[in-house]
Amino acid sequence: MTAPAGRGGAGGAEGRYAAVVLPVPVNRSYIYEVPDALAERVVPGARVVVPLRRRSIIGIVTAAVSQLPSAVDNIKRISAAPDDQPALSPALLELGRWLSDYYGAPLGLALRAILPGPLWSVARPAGPAPGAERLLVLTRNGMDSLLERERRFKRAPQRRAVYETVEALGGSAPVSHLVKQLRLSRNSLEGLVRQGLARIEHVPEMRDPFAGMSSPPPPTLTEDQRNVVAGIESTPVSMPVLLNGVTGSGKTLVYLEILRGVVASGRGAILLVPEIALTPQTVARVRGVFGDHVAVLHSGLSDGERADAWRALRRGERRVAVGPRSAVFAPVQRLGAIVVDEEHEPSYKQGSVPRYHARDAAAVRAQLEGARLILGSATPSLETLDQAAQGRVSTFALPDRVGARPLPPVEIIDLRSAPRVEAAATIPWSEALDSAVAGALERQEQVILLLNRRGFATFVQCPACGNVPGCPQCAIALTVHQTPPALRCHYCGHEEPIPATCVVCGHLTQRLRGLGTQQLEHFLGERFGRARIARMDLDTTTSKWAHHHILERVASGAVDILLGTQMIAKGLDFPNVTVVGVVDADTGLHFPDFRAGERTFQLVAQVAGRAGRGPHGGRVFVQTRAPDHHAIRAAAAHSVAQFAAAELPLRSPPNPPYPPHTGLVRFVVSGTDHAWTADLAERVAAWLRRASSARLDGLLTVLGPAPCPLMRLKGKWRWHVLTKAVEPRVLGRVVRAWRAKSHRAVMVDRDPVSLL
Ligand SMILES: [Zn+2]
Ligand SMILES: [Zn+2]
Repeated sequence: MTAPAGRGGAGGAEGRYAAVVLPVPVNRSYIYEVPDALAERVVPGARVVVPLRRRSIIGIVTAAVSQLPSAVDNIKRISAAPDDQPALSPALLELGRWLSDYYGAPLGLALRAILPGPLWSVARPAGPAPGAERLLVLTRNGMDSLLERERRFKRAPQRRAVYETVEALGGSAPVSHLVKQLRLSRNSLEGLVRQGLARIEHVPEMRDPFAGMSSPPPPTLTEDQRNVVAGIESTPVSMPVLLNGVTGSGKTLVYLEILRGVVASGRGAILLVPEIALTPQTVARVRGVFGDHVAVLHSGLSDGERADAWRALRRGERRVAVGPRSAVFAPVQRLGAIVVDEEHEPSYKQGSVPRYHARDAAAVRAQLEGARLILGSATPSLETLDQAAQGRVSTFALPDRVGARPLPPVEIIDLRSAPRVEAAATIPWSEALDSAVAGALERQEQVILLLNRRGFATFVQCPACGNVPGCPQCAIALTVHQTPPALRCHYCGHEEPIPATCVVCGHLTQRLRGLGTQQLEHFLGERFGRARIARMDLDTTTSKWAHHHILERVASGAVDILLGTQMIAKGLDFPNVTVVGVVDADTGLHFPDFRAGERTFQLVAQVAGRAGRGPHGGRVFVQTRAPDHHAIRAAAAHSVAQFAAAELPLRSPPNPPYPPHTGLVRFVVSGTDHAWTADLAERVAAWLRRASSARLDGLLTVLGPAPCPLMRLKGKWRWHVLTKAVEPRVLGRVVRAWRAKSHRAVMVDRDPVSLL
């Protein structure tokens, strides 16, 4: 490795040198010699190819070096500089430094997050691969009755699993996906074809559905929206803006109007959305306004397409970037605005180093580039509300829905006492929700049902000895799945057969406990025989464009009931949905995490907002065993103010303080040996306590170590230490001091969104 070092070769003119940061978990730069021929291109922010041990690797130049430190030999030379302009602008390089310092991540890993993957490969990325794929297409149109289905698949449960999976995927799916990812048997696929229920088609590789998406003309703004646009535009650019608009108030139109002004003035813009697959309507609208100026960045792009989109933005050929969290780093030129839609979404937090929050990175980038920052949500995070309360964010409200449509009334159903439908047996299904669903189906309106738990049942339990099969790698019960049948771990993917008898006591029957989306789907199929049902959860959306297909079917009216996990709570706008049911609002309420109440509030309020967006109005039913919980109450009132008023005191003294009252850094220690892990956690906590008293005036509170709520995960034991400090600079000093020490077995997470 090239050492920091004295003079290269022998006498003669002093060469020129550059400090280069490599995408490796080491917090230092390396010095390389700059060949004369490359001198013009080797500037801060430029990509360079350098030798590292026996291979070539891409690095980023961070500075020119004229004076070498003493005592060196063996300085290596930069071998290439592929770009005619630096890959990272000064602002993006600076943003990388902020990521590194704020989150305590090595600079190389922070920079790696900023440039898309293909740009780190020494070989030029290839374009999209040509080729055809085999598709299994169901031949029957629409769904048949449950009885018919039971009869047809009586002796072929595997075949039924394939059939229902493909059905859930929209009637067709790539064979390779079914066999490789979903592990369905090839025999069953062929069986369906023999039975005449499906056929195999050869089609060109699936195309990007966003590429040719039709774009509706932008509707005109309402008076409320116009006033908000005018208010935001007259706010100083340096003042971040919160657009707090109820569901259905048309926040997207406000963003677009502001972005239109930004683009018209010759500048560029970024629109961040939580998950691009779930927001096709937003993407379509952006395209409608900006046409070919838009680059849509999403996970379905091939490496070649991703690199092309990046280059088009870098050269200024495209001026608006739309995408999930990593789009905050899009190389938009002359950046004029960043919009963070649904700013409360936990998916804006990156799960690996650097563990950044895109909302916070957006704020820093906007400041560095003199761009406007707009955060939008119907259920803003408590962090943002706190900033607003302190006058650091300017709030604009859209308190009413477009067209004076009322927010749908929400009925809270107490599952402990409400009359239940007898036929539902173990499923929490109240008469009130049942008749609302039946009524909507009769009127040919649509229904959305939220159950935030996938699988068939939550777990298997032996009625005799109480044994619950758990994952051998994770301290967590295995979830029961029926399509295909297996016990599956939702954390590591471990799979085993569903036991017929108890492995502990040998008891002959086993009981399924807890409700998952598969079982709910099954129940709905029996209860509403003619309804066309679509399920949207992680299990039905593993293929590339599955979300898109399911949502398209809902939009076209080919689905009567859409049921699913939290995926269906986001941004969907279907005017014919008149009934929304939260089947069990309590699934996340008792998680051992200080944000459990906030997440429940956001989820229930957001899904409630899917109802009544059309002329037929709508109603919402929330089934719960905690009808008086403030999160449920506030969600039923569609009121984030009501929620914050009840929640904030719970996170402030005399209660143990939590964000936004204090900053939080979590240190997670993991290892295969339990004693070793616990011991290392103990030493981390001791180091933190020493640092607090020696260098930080005791301003750091250290809690723990303690076992994580998920104490075992993917075969590793997990312990954590929490540190809190009101002043951000204290936490900054801690994470930077730790970055210098760094330990492979310790993960540092500043501003964590989960404490599990
Ligand atoms: Zn047993
Ligand atoms: Zn597991």
